Amino acid sequence: MSWRLSKVWWWLLPGGLVALVVTVLFELGVWQPLEQLVYTSLFRLRGSGPWSEQVVVVAIDDESLEKLGQFPLPRQRYAQLLDILSEAQPNVVAFDILWSEPSQDDSQLAAAMERHGLVVLPRALNDVGVALLPTSELQSGAITTGHISTHQDIDGIVRRIEPQLQGELALGLAATQAYALVAAPTLEFPSLNRPLWINWAGVVQHTPHYSLARVLEGEVSPEAFQNRIVVVGVTATGLDSLSTPFNRNPPASGVYLHATVINNVLQHNFLHVPSQSWIRLGLLLAGPSLSLLLVFCPKELRLISWIGCCLIWAILSLVLFRAGHWLPVASPLILLSGTTGAAMLSNRLQEDALLRRQLDQLWQAYHQDLVVYQAKHTDLSKKVLSQSSRVNSHTVQLAALADQFGRSQSAQAAIARSLSTGLLAADLDGLVWFCNPVAASWLSVKVGDRLASCLVPHWLSEAEWQANLHRLKTSGFTSSCELHRNERWFEIGLEPLLYHSQTLEAKNQPCAPDGLLLVIKDITERQEIVRLKDEFVSIVSHELRTPITSIRGSLGLLLTGKLGNLTDKGQHMLNIAVNNTDRLIRLINDILDFERIESGKVALLKKSCDVADLIVLASETMQAMADKAEVNLKVTTKSIYCCADPDRLIQVLTNLLSNAIKFSPQNTTVCLSAEIINPSEIEGIRSEASRFNSNPAFLSSLTCIPHPALLITVQDQGRGIPADKLEAIFGRFQQVDTSDARQKGGTGLGLAICRAIVEQHGGKIWVESTLGEGSTFYLILPGIEELEICHNGI
Ligand code: ADP
Repeated sequence: MSWRLSKVWWWLLPGGLVALVVTVLFELGVWQPLEQLVYTSLFRLRGSGPWSEQVVVVAIDDESLEKLGQFPLPRQRYAQLLDILSEAQPNVVAFDILWSEPSQDDSQLAAAMERHGLVVLPRALNDVGVALLPTSELQSGAITTGHISTHQDIDGIVRRIEPQLQGELALGLAATQAYALVAAPTLEFPSLNRPLWINWAGVVQHTPHYSLARVLEGEVSPEAFQNRIVVVGVTATGLDSLSTPFNRNPPASGVYLHATVINNVLQHNFLHVPSQSWIRLGLLLAGPSLSLLLVFCPKELRLISWIGCCLIWAILSLVLFRAGHWLPVASPLILLSGTTGAAMLSNRLQEDALLRRQLDQLWQAYHQDLVVYQAKHTDLSKKVLSQSSRVNSHTVQLAALADQFGRSQSAQAAIARSLSTGLLAADLDGLVWFCNPVAASWLSVKVGDRLASCLVPHWLSEAEWQANLHRLKTSGFTSSCELHRNERWFEIGLEPLLYHSQTLEAKNQPCAPDGLLLVIKDITERQEIVRLKDEFVSIVSHELRTPITSIRGSLGLLLTGKLGNLTDKGQHMLNIAVNNTDRLIRLINDILDFERIESGKVALLKKSCDVADLIVLASETMQAMADKAEVNLKVTTKSIYCCADPDRLIQVLTNLLSNAIKFSPQNTTVCLSAEIINPSEIEGIRSEASRFNSNPAFLSSLTCIPHPALLITVQDQGRGIPADKLEAIFGRFQQVDTSDARQKGGTGLGLAICRAIVEQHGGKIWVESTLGEGSTFYLILPGIEELEICHNGI
């Protein structure tokens, strides 16, 4: 958990740091020039906005000054203007001309103002914050006054106004309020508590305006001003210049600012701008979130997603700007770029560190094996290596490892090519990543193919393939089988492959395999030799059996004494000859029997039989031998119906009983029992068997037997079997103590025959034994049909 948390912190860190830096610089106003540039561009991209018909400018333009004289104009001109405007009431007239100095025309202008009744005059603040008011006479004629203080940003553009200063409304707001009184009582006003962001409508040349000179000359009908707010101000070149996003060079004039404020109030479209604290919070949160997002973004898409995010933000800003919302653009784009860069850098550093760690581990694990590298780096070259920088030394290490890897790889590939055995390596999901030419031609497979599609169903059934694969994956067991295909014999084996963690981390710990190695051998010749040998043995045995049987007949006749009495010595010699001939006949019979079973010449005659009957029959057969050896025979069974060849099963049981009796001292007990085992019990049996038989293929095959199954045990208290012989005695001619076994009439083939018969039934046989304490032979068979619960303790 703590590891995950620390990882999350690492992911958040690049974005967090960039966000912090960007926010601090935002606070210090470093991004302002860029934001101002974007602000102007946004207006240009958006284009002209709506202009209210109610706002009209009377401009004291160059033409007016030409006709009426230099600025300032005599105040009677304005009185004259007011009289003309009064003809088309109602209208509000707002002057953007400050008359703070008294003049002899003041009374005339004041009288005109009073006649008009809706005149708004400006007031300003000088540099030290002292209000510059219109003369008291003029003030008395005006309905109200409004301040005309503006704040220009460093690029000369006015972006916002203070709605109130020293309790005085801005001129535009004051004029609109006066207008609302007479013409629009329901007009809504913006909040006066925070700065109002001007929404410039377009180039001022498109704003409805009339030249003062023309109005005075009567060229403009007074109706043009009816029911309107008339803003009067200087627009002549060089006087009262003011830049707007649309008019920068040449600039517009201050009067248009007030006209635009009035327009914004009437249209309710001042710009909505998020407060500084919201922007700050947004920047601080966006950085870490973005850097977290980038972690989950595939590397190759990071650059694209950065460009995508920037575009989305730019388009969103434009769309919102059109809807009257201004969002900062420059600082978010810088944040996006910075975070993407920092995340990629941190990723790169982490990757570098990981690579170095892995390289160090690889170096630790393999540098001893780098024969070529070691040989090359003699004292002199070692010196050179030690002088090279650390970065270089890593590169040298990597190159050396790659070089060695390349050599081993090509050597291994050459060896694999030269083999007559097929070799194929695949991932656990079956993707083939190596195969030598032999495997490729036998299995018709190539690198990149799916192994299952080459093996199933031609070589293995789907079920067999899945079972083998499952065994390999879960327990790393190897498995092999012999198959007859296209008139040839093949042996296919699966081996686990470890190629990841094993070498680097837990060399000594068992771990699940990473892949598999399939080894396929053509064993046709071997099979042929075995077949020939078996055939030879069986022919020889056949040839021997008839004469030996007839010899035995003659010896038997001699024994009866019908051919005359023998001396004691002759009798003794005859007994030895009879014993040896009997043993030879048993051996020949066993060899022939074994060969017939192995070669599949003996078909099982399976039928439903009660195991209890077979066990009783076998014990009765061996009872005489047990009595002779003074060994107790005890049988425990119940009625269990099983599908088997009864004669063959009895052959197995008598052989096991005969061995048990043979190798038990007097007055000990041999127990023969049969029971049903259920799936839940098999694991216990398997783990018990694993103490005596370590063959993984055998152990795993135990669990593959269908359940419920029949379990027969033959237990004795004899001398036991040494641990290293527990598996071997099931082979041909295998005896623990050969001379003793022979003396006891053994041929060394009994258990081999037992195993062949049991496996022919689809079962398994094994032995558990402790020297000096006794042995228990286990025989597990499938094919249980039904059981009657009637305990027959015999
Ligand atoms: P044999 O004809 O020699 O008995 P088997 O194949 O039946 O041949 O047995 C092989 C060998 O296994 C025996 O020779 C003996 O050494 C050993 N063996 C078999 N069963 C037992 C047992 N119950 N106790 C001890 N040793 C046994």
